[in-house]
Amino acid sequence: MRTTARLGIMGGTFDPVHFGHLVTAEEALVQFNLDRVLFMPTGRPARKTDREVTSAEHRYLMTVIATAANPDFDVSRMEIDRAGLSYTVDTLVALRETYGPHTELFFITGADAVWEIVTWKDAERFKGLATFIAATRPGYDLDAAREEHAEALAALDIEFIEVPSLAISSTDIRSRVAERRPIRYLTPEAVASYIQKYRLYREDGRS
Ligand code: NAP
Repeated sequence: MRTTARLGIMGGTFDPVHFGHLVTAEEALVQFNLDRVLFMPTGRPARKTDREVTSAEHRYLMTVIATAANPDFDVSRMEIDRAGLSYTVDTLVALRETYGPHTELFFITGADAVWEIVTWKDAERFKGLATFIAATRPGYDLDAAREEHAEALAALDIEFIEVPSLAISSTDIRSRVAERRPIRYLTPEAVASYIQKYRLYREDGRS
């Protein structure tokens, strides 16, 4: 019998959440034998102070809607409710305190973000705090990336998963909405309806 729990933390801006994120979380759950995955929408992304990000409440609610039917998925307000910029180290330390030493933490995010982790706040504290699971899109040259980012590999515990549906991206969905192109089948229908209802990602929107 396993004596430790394994918690996945799906960190992202989720502007908006899409099927690529949901498939990534499900893949990580199965491949790493996780007990559950906690989606963690960033409150105020530390690296996105230069571009406008949709309000945290909209991003949180879209994530709740998208994950509601899956009993293994939850959504946390931790970063949204914390004042100031969102730093992953603060989140992992808080989760470690909440769940105690018998829960292993697995922080899941996109491979592009993962290589920058060594430059994130207090990066030297990550080793031993959490294992990072980096999701790659099809065609991603992992060997080249490993060579280029040897420093990050040595400094962190990183695992990789390839997720076919990560060809979907939040950036593309935002552009499509702005250009009145369809987003059906890229994100759950309820999220698409939410985007339409609140006119998100449109010049005349109310986000
Ligand atoms: P990003 O730079 O917007 O994303 C980089 C790439 O990864 C994008 O292609 C993105 O696609 C993808 N991606 C992002 N989250 C993903 C996920 N959970 N699963 C699969 N693909 C994902 O990244 P971000 O959203 O701002 O940040 C990702 C996480 O890193 C967040 O939890 C954030 O708080 C954390 N972070 C922390 C610091 C810090 O502590 N200093 C700095 C930067 C980021 P989509 O656009 O389609 O999602």
